[in-house]
Amino acid sequence: MSRYIPEVLRDLVAQRAKFCCEYCCLPADRSFFAFHIDHVVSMKHGGETAADNLAFACSICNLNKGSDVATFLDDNDQSVRFYNPRRDLWREHFRAELTGLLIAKTDIGRATIKILNLNHPDSIIERRELIRLGLLMIEQDSN
Ligand SMILES: [Zn+2]
Repeated sequence: MSRYIPEVLRDLVAQRAKFCCEYCCLPADRSFFAFHIDHVVSMKHGGETAADNLAFACSICNLNKGSDVATFLDDNDQSVRFYNPRRDLWREHFRAELTGLLIAKTDIGRATIKILNLNHPDSIIERRELIRLGLLMIEQDSN
């Protein structure tokens, strides 16, 4: 599934994201694995290789997301799209507890946490430690 993305575009996407995963907020310099350039809307679904459709993503988020763009929640047969870093504000859909757990504020947040597996036990532990060390750039709020 190799897709050519020019180096200049990769750099722009990474810098725009401040070198943090745009889904789980993991800083690239705290990861053992190389980060990916994610097509927010996959090419399979008509997404283009353009700055306004690309996101900086850790390998775990990117691999869990794959080419998916939405999922189903509960018993509802209506699909819910994922969080889109290019048009949504992270803090409107998620918040992080000091325990490292991510809490969804919206169905879009729930759908994204579910499919990207953002609350995998290892991710929660990693996030908790990064928060404790002040290394996670997550916008905190009091909700
Ligand atoms: Zn991530």
